[in-house]
This record gives sequence, structure tokens and C-alpha cells, in this order.
Amino acid sequence: MSDVIAVVGAGIVGLAVAWHLQQDGHEVRLVERGPVAEGASYGNAGAFAFSDVLPLASPGILRKAPRWLLDPLGPLSIPPAYLPVITPWLLRFWRASQPDRFAASLAAQCELMRLASRAMDAMVAGAGLSGRVRSDGNLQLYESEAELRTSLPGWAAREREGIAFEHVRGERLAALQPGLAPRFVAGTFTPHWQTVDDPYRFAMALFDVVMARGASVERGDVGQIEQGLSGVRVRMSDGRFIDADAAVIAAGAWSRPLAAVLGDAIPLETERGYNTTLPTDAFDLRRQLTFGGHGFVVTPLSTGIRVGGAVELGGLKRPPNFARSRAMLDKAAAFLPGLLTEGGRQWMGFRPSLPDTLPVIGPARGSSRVFYAFGHGHSGLTQSAATGRLIADLIAGRPPAIALEPFRPDRF
Ligand SMILES: Cc1cc2nc3c(=O)[nH]c(=O)nc-3n(C[C@H](O)[C@H](O)[C@H](O)COP(=O)(O)OP(=O)(O)OC[C@H]3O[C@@H](n4cnc5c(N)ncnc54)[C@H](O)[C@@H]3O)c2cc1C
Repeated sequence: MSDVIAVVGAGIVGLAVAWHLQQDGHEVRLVERGPVAEGASYGNAGAFAFSDVLPLASPGILRKAPRWLLDPLGPLSIPPAYLPVITPWLLRFWRASQPDRFAASLAAQCELMRLASRAMDAMVAGAGLSGRVRSDGNLQLYESEAELRTSLPGWAAREREGIAFEHVRGERLAALQPGLAPRFVAGTFTPHWQTVDDPYRFAMALFDVVMARGASVERGDVGQIEQGLSGVRVRMSDGRFIDADAAVIAAGAWSRPLAAVLGDAIPLETERGYNTTLPTDAFDLRRQLTFGGHGFVVTPLSTGIRVGGAVELGGLKRPPNFARSRAMLDKAAAFLPGLLTEGGRQWMGFRPSLPDTLPVIGPARGSSRVFYAFGHGHSGLTQSAATGRLIADLIAGRPPAIALEPFRPDRF
């Protein structure tokens, strides 16, 4: 049956949800308070990181975090004034990092990533976006054999999931990426990793397809979603409202207050990330490179070479500290001698993050006609199509493509 579905938030997750709802014949009304796809989906690193199945909340990160926190511009930072606010989230993160919980999150993440790969292939083909996807893999780099050895348990876990990879050295390493600093003695190549031409262009191309298939956009800041006479009423802060048969909250890092109104206290925080996009000729970059020990990646896009990553647990209100973008660029210049670092554009984005590294996908406590689709952290682009597929299953009343238990909104 064709229903009207309101989707709050036109980032990559809301757009992928819209596309999947249209596949089921629904009429979609996107509700967005800002420009389309200019939240986290605008300037991310553009990876379909299907093999990135290891949850961030892991025993390994607890060993690395203290060293990282000592460097104020390092891969992980917490502004001191924000520490009291983020402490409950950190405690949950610590609990999720314990071996038993980590194993459960890893299993859930693997299931979701398998679906993510299938659903993205189908959406990219169905929406005519194949020309925007590069399939040349990712190269993770190590500064010592000891660093590679430390990563081996993680690769063994991926191997058990059937994920293809190859540890490389010498000529093979140099062929995958010429011009690396000699400090990088080894790497791991994951061939099935993909990147998009540019994440904003990719999202806008999907938006154009969704609009051409009959979606509409309502500009407005959603304040709450209420039970309507026969469905739901999406109410904006200026008093206007939209009535719909069902609603989906895909408001990224800003979803928490909307869920709170529906009775769900979801510990959503933001991991702020930074980057600089250099002109396309800044380096002869063959594929996306990951400098895991330093928490950043370098990505070839049609719009430039993007250098960035890092995590700043600093909330939604604090102004950006672009010294972080600069610090990663300086490191990249040392790691890729010959990188031209002039003429870059800096950006900061709000990853929507839950402490167990899994998104929230499921119905609201306060209404069986409102569904959550947020909290994808570092993997929102990668998992957008899978989330769209799962939300469409829920709205249709079909058995979901994968078990949704690990992603339940009430798991906290
Ligand atoms: C530096 C960096 C690098 C990253 N790299 C990758 C990567 O390589 N691969 C990957 O998969 N992921 C990556 N990510 C993560 C990814 O960008 C996010 O997970 C993803 O963009 C989240 O998408 P979203 O649609 O949920 O949120 P957003 O894109 O933030 O969209 C949310 C939208 O909701 C709107 N909104 C919010 N509140 C309201 C309201 N009350 N009323 C109306 N509208 C509202 C906002 O205006 C916004 O447009 C990266 C993130 C960062 C910061």
C-alpha cells in the first residue's frame, strides 16, 4: 500500500531511506532545516568501508587512547570543559569495549556490513550512480613490523568473516602507492573497499534521483513528532506541521532530542572529525590510504585530495578548531613527500556516534509509526543503503533483512 512517509533529515542516511521507501511505492516527504546533504554527509572521506568491521569500542583502543590523548592535536581529543558532559558516554564506551561485548558488537557489525555491501550495490545500480564509485581498494600503512603485528588479530577477525586482504611490502607496496616516505615498511591492501567521486556529489546525485521519483522537500526545523489522528504529525518549531502515515528520524548527530520526546533516552554524542581538501594535482594518489596509527586517511576525490579524520569528543556547539586539520596535513606532508599542501579547504563534521559503535535502527518506544535511523558514527555513508533497506522492511512489516536486536533503540 502506498503511504506518505516523512523522513526527517536529508543527509546520506535520510536520502538512502527515501530511495528504499520509494522502491516500495511510498510517497516520501523529506523534512530538512538546512541545505540538503550539508551535515556530516558533505565532507566525509567518501569510503564504502565494508571491511571496516572492527567496532571502535574495542580492547585495542583502550590501550591506544591514553597515548593519543596526550597529544592535544592528536587522533583523539576531549576539550576539558566537555569532559563532565561526555563522561557517561565514555563509561558506556568502556563497557562496550570489554571482550564479551566487543565480540557481540563485532558480530552485529559484520552482519550489517555484509548487508551494506549488497544493498549499496543494488542502490548504486538502481539509481544510476555506478559512474561515481571507484573500486581500487584501500591501503593501510605501518611504520614498523611491530605495528603490523599488533594489527594481526584484527585482520584474523576479518579473515574469519571472509574479507579479502593482502599484507604487502617492498615492490608490491611501492606499486600500490609510489612516493611513500621510507618510514612505511609494510601495508595491508583491502581490494574490495570502494570510494565515491565526492561524498557531497554522490549524495546530491541520489537526491536528484529521489526527487525525480516524486519526493518533496519541506524546509523546516522539526521540534517533535506526535501521534496524529491516523498516523503521525511532524511538528516544526515555527508551528507548521506535516501529517504522514509514518515518520523516520534520520537527523544524524542532532537526533537525540527528537527521540527524547518519544520517550527514548539514547546516548547519542558526536565524534567531530576534521579534514583539508587539496587541489586534485596535489599528489599522484592511486587509492585511499589509511594511516591507522595517526587516525587519518588520504582520499582521491574528483574534487581534490582529502586529508583528514581524527576524533574530537566536543559536542555540537563548540566552534571548530582547525589546528586539527592543519596537524593532519603536516603529518601527511611528512608521510607523502612531494604532497603540495597549498590551496586547501578545511572542514569539520559531526559524526553521530553511539558508545557501542552500532547505529540505532528500529521503532520508537512512544509510537509504532516512528522509526529511528541514526548513529552510524564513522560508517554512515557505508551503511546508508543497508539502513534504508531495513527501515523499508520495518515499514512494510516484512521480516528485516538482518536481525535488528543489536540495533534496538532501547538497548542502552
Ligand atoms: C571526517 C569524517 C570522515 C568520515 N568518513 C566516512 C567515510 O569515509 N565513510 C563513511 O561511511 N562514513 C564516514 N564518515 C561518517 C559519515 O559522514 C556519517 O556517518 C554520515 O554522513 C551520517 O549521515 P546522516 O545522514 O545520518 O547525518 P547528516 O549528514 O549529518 O545529516 C543529518 C541531517 O539532518 C538535518 N537535521 C538535523 N536535525 C534536524 C531537525 N530537527 N529538523 C530538520 N532537519 C534536521 C541536518 O540539517 C542534516 O542535514 C565520516 C565523518 C567525518 C566527520
